[in-house]
Amino acid sequence: MKTVKLPERCNYIETYLTLRCPLECSYCINNQSGKAARERAELPVQQWVDGLNRIDFGNVPLTFGGGEPTFNRDFYTLMDRLRPDIHIDLLTNLQFDVDKFISKLSPERFNNCKLPAYKSIRVSYHAETMDSSALIKKVLKLQDKDFNVGIFGLNHPLNIQQNMEMADMACKNRIFFFIKDFLGEYNDKMFGFYNYPDALDGIPKKATCRTRELLIGPEGNIYRCHRDLYLLDVDSAVANISDPDLKIEYIFRPCKNYGNCNPCDVKIKTNRFLQMGHCSVEIIEQDNVNK
Ligand code: SF4
Ligand code: SF4
Repeated sequence: MKTVKLPERCNYIETYLTLRCPLECSYCINNQSGKAARERAELPVQQWVDGLNRIDFGNVPLTFGGGEPTFNRDFYTLMDRLRPDIHIDLLTNLQFDVDKFISKLSPERFNNCKLPAYKSIRVSYHAETMDSSALIKKVLKLQDKDFNVGIFGLNHPLNIQQNMEMADMACKNRIFFFIKDFLGEYNDKMFGFYNYPDALDGIPKKATCRTRELLIGPEGNIYRCHRDLYLLDVDSAVANISDPDLKIEYIFRPCKNYGNCNPCDVKIKTNRFLQMGHCSVEIIEQDNVNK
């Protein structure tokens, strides 16, 4: 297949190998714009390999997320067959066999960026569904084998005490720990900081929208945004990674769902170097759909 170049403004690429997850966190970002379609087709491994290996990623890493990306049945085969020069980041809840992971993969398979706040394996800590001591043990195993790993908590109002305890345990074990903003509603109050507050008011409006992120769903579809991806809004998919004529464009696209966006798209966020002040999307409102 011919080489596919990323648009210059594209600064993040995430491939959601599966949306399946063994945990059921009450505040899961996958469900923040409606119930996520977790059980869905997942692209056969060779189509992932062919689709991803022909992309010129430049300096942008390829991030695997989900769901829990390691739950994809071909995760290790895919990691083995991807071009060795592709810089890989992994977003995971670590609910897998860490010994198997260590035996199958080397730290060199992952992005080797040396910036102190950059962790190529970013482990999410969800106090309501995880055992903190077990998580620390797994992270230590990876760290002892030189994997570049850190734990990321979430400042949900119910997590405060557990996050403090996790910070203490991580510090004692010389593990990187960082707390990210909780995005979504709790007790009728919206948490998070947003570039487009009207994007979350529940009132559908017409807009045009473009994103700097390349978001690829489990079935290989490329979506306009996280909302479309999580809800499996296939009619809004803009391309498929397995298309031999794939072209990735950085353009404004029409949307009728402005108002029901996913917080992840419209938040003011840290980039992968943990620098604050970024928003993935640019939205221009047209008019109210109901007018
Ligand atoms: S671990 Fe992550 S993907 Fe799984 S339910 Fe919790 S927040 Fe959602
Ligand atoms: S306006 Fe919101 S729902 Fe529509 S494409 Fe943009 S982020 Fe997605």
